[in-house]
Order: sequence, then C-alpha cells, then structure tokens
Amino acid sequence: MQKEKLKQDRNTRALVTGGAGFLGSHLCQRLIDDGLEVLCVDNLFTGNKKNINQLLKNSNFEFIRHDVTLPLHLEIDQIYNLACPASPVKYQYNPVQTIKTSVHGAINMLGLAKRTGATILQASTSEVYGDPNLHPQPESYWGNVNPIGLRACYDEGKRCAETLFFDYHRQYNIPIKVARIFNTFGPNMHLNDGRVISNFVVQALKGEPITIYGSGSQTRSFCYVDDMIEALVKFMDTPKDLCGPVNLGNPSEITILKLANEIIRMTGSSSTIHYKDLPSDDPIKRKPDISLAKTHLRWKPETKLQKGLSNTIRYFKTLL
Ligand code: NAD
Ligand code: UDP
Repeated sequence: MQKEKLKQDRNTRALVTGGAGFLGSHLCQRLIDDGLEVLCVDNLFTGNKKNINQLLKNSNFEFIRHDVTLPLHLEIDQIYNLACPASPVKYQYNPVQTIKTSVHGAINMLGLAKRTGATILQASTSEVYGDPNLHPQPESYWGNVNPIGLRACYDEGKRCAETLFFDYHRQYNIPIKVARIFNTFGPNMHLNDGRVISNFVVQALKGEPITIYGSGSQTRSFCYVDDMIEALVKFMDTPKDLCGPVNLGNPSEITILKLANEIIRMTGSSSTIHYKDLPSDDPIKRKPDISLAKTHLRWKPETKLQKGLSNTIRYFKTLL
C-alpha cells in the first residue's frame, strides 16, 4: 500500500538508451516537456552531448555515459531502447560491436525491465524487411534479408532483438512494444552521419557534388522526427496487450534522384549530381503500410517532406 502510494506520488521515470543520438535527444526533450524524469544512457559513439546540452541543467534529467552491452542497474518505469548506430556507414564501421549492441543490449535492457516491471519499447527498423519483395511492407511480411551481407550486423541484430523481446514477453510476461521505424530525418542528425538526407543537405549547402549511390531510382519514404517522436510516445502509452510490431513511418515514397533535385532546389545550390556505386544489399524500394499504427495508435504523420526538409536545412545552416 505504502509502496503504491510512493509510486503515485513521484514522476514516471523513463530510461532512454541512445538518448544523445538523433531520435533519442528529441525523445528526451519530449519526455521532459511531458513532466517525466528522464535518464539518458549513451556511449556517445554516434551521439553527441551537444544534442542534450539544453537538458543537462534540468533537475528531472540525468545523463549516464554507459555502453548497453554491459548490464545496468537502475530503478525505472519505462525503457525506450534506442541505442544502436542507425546509419549504414556507422553501423558497418564496427559490425561486431553493432550486433553486440542490438543483441546484448536487448538482453541487458530486457533483464532490467524484468527486474523493475518497466514497460520496454524497442526501436526496431524497416531493415527487418531487408530488400523487400512485397510493397508496401505490412508487419505480417517476414522479410528478405541476406544473413551474411554487410548490412546483416544491423538487420539480423535487430531481428534477433525482436525475437528476444517476444520471448521475454511470452516467458516472463514483460510488457513490450516493438516499433519498426522507417527512415526518419530532422535536426540533431550528425553532420557526418552518412545517411542520405544529412549527406545531401550538407553537400548542397557546401556546393559540393551530391553523391547518389546507384542510379537514384531506389525509393525511400521519409518521416519527419516530430511525427516519429509522437508515435513512439503514443505507442508506449497503449494498453499492455499491444506489443506490436507496429510500422512507424511516412508512406509518402520518393526516389533518391528526386530527393536530390528537391534538396538542390530548396537550398538554391549550384551542386551537381555525382553518381557512385550502389552499396551491396541496398534495398530497391521501401514504403511502410501504416494501417496498424493508424488504427491502434490513432496516429499518422502530419509533416510534409518539404516542411521537414526546410527545418533540417535551417538546422544544418546553423552548424556550417
Ligand atoms: P543515432 O546514431 O543518431 O543514435 C543512436 C545512439 O545510440 C547514439 O547516440 C549512439 O551513441 C548510441 N549508441 C550506439 N551504440 C551504443 C551502445 N552500445 N551503448 C550505448 N549507446 C549506444 O541514430 P538514430 O537515428 O537516432 O536511431 C535511434 C534508434 O532508432 C536506433 O536503434 C535505430 O536503429 C532506430 N532506427 C532509426 C531510424 C531512423 O531513420 N532514424 C530508422 C529505423 C530505426
Ligand atoms: N544514398 C545515396 N547517397 C548518399 C547516401 C545514401 O544515394 O550520400 C542512398 C542509399 O544508397 C540508399 C538511400 O540513399 O539507397 C537511403 O540511404 P540511407 O543511408 O539514408 O539509409 P537506408 O535506408 O539505406 O538505411
């Protein structure tokens, strides 16, 4: 009784792993704005303390430099497990560490959830569908992943993490939420992140050649960060029986060539297009079926690509 009373009297405590990264830093800010106590755990591999600078003086916010491949002992109510490099360039830099981050990280965070009774949300990915032969991709699709290719450290790591989440749920009744995140962009992406929108915007602003891998006919569907954060928070607050997986992303699909031209136009850049080799196993097309998110989260993305790009261009201008 006393314990329940104490629980009601204090703020909800949320742990955000990968909290100094692109999505994590926006999520930390949002949870602080919502009145939660936030513990941000990050090893700063691709994250940056600058992303959370404004939060460090807030008494409800705490930063812990820690690698999720090692166990962590905290008292916590919610866990958002975002720790993992997301850019292909960064996750292929040290593939063994990437797979350890996904798999050992999931085991450690699920262990923490088991001990504390916390609800745990996994930042999974559209990469679990690999190079899909079903388009758009619904959650029921099992995917087409090369298990020994250069992207496997990320794709298979995330697939194994999903397996661990569902086995911990079935075996120990842990409340889980598995979110399959599709390409998301916005401010706080690193200048040298290596993903397509940050690359193109930085190249365009510097007047450098825009590097298109392959012919540029491959497609992606880009979601603005504010929409994604809204979806993650909504998903965490759904009833216990909604475990997912749930696709989160913007179904508005565009070719990489068209994206390059749009960024050149919006920045007024004199950059030319430079074609480079397509990396192996680069998916040809990707677009989420978000019917489940619409029904169960009552969510759909609101930000148009142009509006998101304009905010992102403004952000990178301040950095350059
Ligand atoms: P990011 O690289 O900006 O952020 C990842 C954060 O995790 C960084 O701060 C990094 O330092 C930290 N990290 C990496 N390994 C760690 C470890 N072993 N221990 C502790 N911290 C570690 O990437 P992001 O775009 O913010 O992605 C966040 C999460 O969302 C990732 O799990 C990613 O797989 C997932 N996701 C993102 C997208 C997207 O388009 N942004 C798409 C699908 C999935
Ligand atoms: N891409 C590109 N030029 C770049 C970076 C990426 O043409 O400078 C392409 C990449 O080959 C892929 C798409 O853009 O087809 C999206 O790449 P990103 O690295 O952003 O993420 P992915 O969706 O492949 O994980």
